[in-house]
Amino acid sequence: MSLEHDLAGVVRLLDDVEDGHRLSRNEAAGLLAATTGPAVHAIAAAADRARAARTGEAITFVRNQNLNVTNLCVNRCGFCGFSRRKGDPDAFRLSLDDVREAAELARSRGVTEICTVSGLAPDFTGETYAAILEACRAGAPGVHLHAGNPQEIAYGAARSGWTTAEQLERLREAGLGSLCGTAAEILVDPVRRRICPGKVPTAEWVRIIREAHGMGVRSTATILYGVGESVDDRVEHLSVLREIQDETGGFTEFVPLSFIHQNTPLYRAGKAPAGATGREDLLLTAVARLFLDNFEHVQASWVKVGTKLSSLLLLAGADDLGGTLYEEHITSAAGGTGGSYLDPAEMERIAADLGRPLVERTTLYGRVG
Ligand code: SF4
Repeated sequence: MSLEHDLAGVVRLLDDVEDGHRLSRNEAAGLLAATTGPAVHAIAAAADRARAARTGEAITFVRNQNLNVTNLCVNRCGFCGFSRRKGDPDAFRLSLDDVREAAELARSRGVTEICTVSGLAPDFTGETYAAILEACRAGAPGVHLHAGNPQEIAYGAARSGWTTAEQLERLREAGLGSLCGTAAEILVDPVRRRICPGKVPTAEWVRIIREAHGMGVRSTATILYGVGESVDDRVEHLSVLREIQDETGGFTEFVPLSFIHQNTPLYRAGKAPAGATGREDLLLTAVARLFLDNFEHVQASWVKVGTKLSSLLLLAGADDLGGTLYEEHITSAAGGTGGSYLDPAEMERIAADLGRPLVERTTLYGRVG
């Protein structure tokens, strides 16, 4: 009998995990495949206990603003509704003055973090990425700059003839505080070739993240799921992240990103499903909390799943609500309806509803105030 059809086996395994057993890949795959109410609820409850033991009752959030500098991109990832070519009517590209002004506005709103992620513009170089950070720093001195990702590091370095270590160092000089763990998507090459053939392969993503962590530049870790990958692909991805974290300890948190499908080439071509189901969302968060035993924090991404499901994810292993964002173009361009700003007052309502305190954090999980 397979694990997903054996409630007693699931409960026994969850008890073992609570006693310190580290989930194997096969065991995690069995949990991710659970379909019955009692099994799914047991997994979510175990993840909730693991969350309480690991991070306590606080629900954290960061006051941040996203800054998308351009949607011009040389790539055409199949899950992306954001990228545009030069000449497209809705292509945009902020000037460095625009970036500085946007950063000033963000600072006036009291954000502690500015997060820049953009398309891979055809004329960007490694120096362009540095200039964007310098413009942010000029407009918002003292605000943490959470920027770039391994794909952007690889792209900037290649365009400038630098090593990725040189690119990272240049960004650090320009004010980089931490790296986004995006562009991970699914860290399984056959899946990457299907959904984002222009992106760095798994080994290169891992190498750049390790390099950043080795330089003391921390990062988040993400997964993009619901694009037609298998349960085993999800587990392989989690396993890659767990292995890096064992070595470096450099990940601040794990951020599951549920695929927003509506306006994406993959979905429109009938090559991807209409995103993950609610069961999959719940189990991805819960199993990640149990499998990633070396991660402190797991985020419920309201921009991907909405505030109502986020509330349930906070009962299934998540402890963080992510950022206020203020501006968000990537998910909304793909058809997301979660909104582009979540007021801390609404976060407070979500936390109070669960009888837990809402705590403002910094990017690196220091407490604010
Ligand atoms: S996901 Fe990023 S790299 Fe891929 S097409 Fe969209 S903007 Fe470009």
